[in-house]
Amino acid sequence: MKYEKEISRRKTFAIISHPDAGKTTLTEKFLLFGGAIQTAGAVKSNKIKKHATSDFMDIERQRGISVATSVMTFEYKDFLINLLDTPGHKDFAEDTYRTLTAVDSVVLVVDSVNGVEAQTRRLMEVCRMRDTPVIVFINKMDRDGKNRFDLLEEIEKELKISLHPMTWPINSGKDFKGVYNLDDKSLRLFTANTKADDEDVIAISDLADATLDARIGDRDAAQLREDVELIDGVYGQLNSADYLDGKIAPVFFGSAVNNFGVKEMLDTFIRIAPTPRDRETTRREIAAGEDKFSGFVFKIHANLDPKHRDRIAFLRVCSGKFERNRYYHHVRLDKDFRFSNPYTFMARSKDVIEDAFPGDVVGLFDTGNFKIGDTLTEGEDFYFTGIPSFSPEIFKELVNKDPMKTKQLEKGIRQLTDEGVAQLFTQFGGTKKIIGCVGELQFEVIQYRLLHEYSAACEFRALPFYKACWLTSNDQKKLDDFLRFKQTNSGEDKDGHPVYLAQSEWFLNTEIQNNPDIQFHFTSEIH
Ligand code: GDP
Repeated sequence: MKYEKEISRRKTFAIISHPDAGKTTLTEKFLLFGGAIQTAGAVKSNKIKKHATSDFMDIERQRGISVATSVMTFEYKDFLINLLDTPGHKDFAEDTYRTLTAVDSVVLVVDSVNGVEAQTRRLMEVCRMRDTPVIVFINKMDRDGKNRFDLLEEIEKELKISLHPMTWPINSGKDFKGVYNLDDKSLRLFTANTKADDEDVIAISDLADATLDARIGDRDAAQLREDVELIDGVYGQLNSADYLDGKIAPVFFGSAVNNFGVKEMLDTFIRIAPTPRDRETTRREIAAGEDKFSGFVFKIHANLDPKHRDRIAFLRVCSGKFERNRYYHHVRLDKDFRFSNPYTFMARSKDVIEDAFPGDVVGLFDTGNFKIGDTLTEGEDFYFTGIPSFSPEIFKELVNKDPMKTKQLEKGIRQLTDEGVAQLFTQFGGTKKIIGCVGELQFEVIQYRLLHEYSAACEFRALPFYKACWLTSNDQKKLDDFLRFKQTNSGEDKDGHPVYLAQSEWFLNTEIQNNPDIQFHFTSEIH
């Protein structure tokens, strides 16, 4: 393998969580360990506090900032780690889902007080679709959280994954004393704001060691012995192959804000997390170690300065070596492009790079040539698969307010949907444009951007749809009949795929039952 050395030192992952569980705090601690930042507070949360238009300008500003923080690259113990940021706000969930297609593993943060929350559930569904390896970090152990056994059970049940505790907490809240490492059998005592230096770790030969009683007290020592006996009996050693297959998730307990339990997790992460993985395409599996370059665009970031309409396409390198100023084949456009200013993301600063390897993310300046899912190669024609579109949850009709600007509106909405801001459906037999989004905020973003970037004024009219399902069938006639019969509730997506727009869950279930020859899909793969 030509680039084995580079590939074997790379780990590309994302931290995911329900807002407020501690993703930003944990990210910051990782960067501190990696030496990418020197002080706490350097990482800005990309969170939107409340749902209000006043926050909208904040999003705009934050989107500007978040280009720089979209990918954070740092080195830790000879490893090069690419940490991809994911927006926490649910209205931008699709952006997060797509980012998950560009990583090789994830760290899931769960708040020990709140347990599994709505967003955690949805994010894990995406991980399960792709069998992404997951490490769980149970955060905020310094607060009075749920019983640890109950919490593990809740996570296993709600997220449908098997867990494997790597550390075990001694109490929580005010009585939190630290964690016992089930793997190397050491004790790490908790002190608030600790830097988690090595001296905090106490080696104990076994659990019968009297040091344990001396350090945490007889009662807690007895409880820990009891807990560990139970856990060891149930879990045994971690099987890292099962972790890599996405079947088992190792679990750590800690407190991100106190930098407690973070380094332990990071050390395990670099040991077990996957290096850049092989990837499926429409033609064949592409091995990360192949000599020839290939990669795909998973995110497009608009420049919100209307004077510079440039966008940045985020390309994940999947195989070979990406080089500056070399021509690459844009499969969809069947055209060759080269990039004179590709940049990499070293913490918060942008740097022009000369080359990049599998696992890396490169930012490419784009004047409108890229769509999400586009593939670049050294000439071979294929697309990376498994980059999904999710069924939107809110539907509105796009109404043109200025007939003189129809062209601008058409162009604008096409480009915005290429960026993945929203999905566009056209009703059969009419020209009604239906915009589907995951959250209300996205409609505000669209309206604002159409006006400011394309001078096109629009408004939205609410539509009574509940879900869009993509339809397929082996029986084309049955599908055509269905679409004709359900004209007001059907249409096509931007790429001409037929969709059914259901008014309610009841309607949807009825149609599914009445039409056994038609498949209703809740996600559509771009390729
Ligand atoms: P995000 O929305 O997931 O990015 O969450 P943040 O990292 O912004 O954290 C949300 C809040 O929880 C902030 O006020 C943090 O200071 C706080 N927080 C993070 N980690 C801990 C922890 O271990 N213990 C406690 N008590 N608070 C924490």
